[in-house]
Amino acid sequence: MIVLSLDIGGTHLRIGAIDQCGTVLKFEKLPTASVIHSDHVLSNLSDFLRSFSAGLSVDGITIGFPATLDRSRRVVVQAPNIPFMENLPVCDYLQKEFSVPVFAERDVTFSLLYDVEKYQLPKEGMICGIYFGTGIGNAILLDGKPLTGRHGTAGELGHIPVPGCGIPCVCGNEGCMEAFAGGKALVRLQKALYPDTPVGEIFTRHRHDRPLLEVFDGMAVSVATEVNILDPDYILLGGGVLNMSDFPRSVLEELIIKHVRKPLPCRDLNLIFTEDEPEKSVLGGAVYARRNLEDGHVS
Ligand SMILES: [Zn+2]
Repeated sequence: MIVLSLDIGGTHLRIGAIDQCGTVLKFEKLPTASVIHSDHVLSNLSDFLRSFSAGLSVDGITIGFPATLDRSRRVVVQAPNIPFMENLPVCDYLQKEFSVPVFAERDVTFSLLYDVEKYQLPKEGMICGIYFGTGIGNAILLDGKPLTGRHGTAGELGHIPVPGCGIPCVCGNEGCMEAFAGGKALVRLQKALYPDTPVGEIFTRHRHDRPLLEVFDGMAVSVATEVNILDPDYILLGGGVLNMSDFPRSVLEELIIKHVRKPLPCRDLNLIFTEDEPEKSVLGGAVYARRNLEDGHVS
């Protein structure tokens, strides 16, 4: 079984051809603009997939989006970083073109599925993934299945409102957590307070400064909020921010413990820091497709 697994981001697109054992047969990371280069988004995508998969016998296609998807996981509802994908019948179109099942999910769900396999966590129970990148990605697995909610928008931890924080958010609201405690907050701090420090060195030089400590506290509040509501079996933390040079994981962990409800679940938290890997999302996408294909969930 070979799955074509795509991760379409605002800047880069990743694609892998992955076999039954999870081996990457072929992988490419390229600028999204080099693939989606005209108004004919779906035919651009189809042409690219056809050329990438030439000579391969593909059994399924899976696509991860940094976006809100509808509950049926067929259409991108809102995608501030890839607005060209909004409200297009991408799954149905590609399914017709390639005559194989096509699945879509949020990219963060794919990252979590990959990490769950990597750390050999049990499929039963509740596992939360919180990934701090430009925004705050959040996925929740219940017995191995992504929690979608009524409209498909469950797990939007980054958009929890922070009282007193009026910073506009990409979602249209003001004062969302991810404007306060994600990569965007770091970029804002760097511009305002540390113009001579490259963003990549912000923790190395300034991790003890109060403005940074406030960002760490905001991140910890995000995690503690989810933990206090859901009491999950495992909490996986990752993303670009946590994997930046000299990010103080122990400080974040202490702050999470400070905010989580006592005595339980605080006394028995299963907190796992995950590594960033370039092929993570496409490998997780392949896990998702394989499970759906094996379960016979063919849309
Ligand atoms: Zn928001």
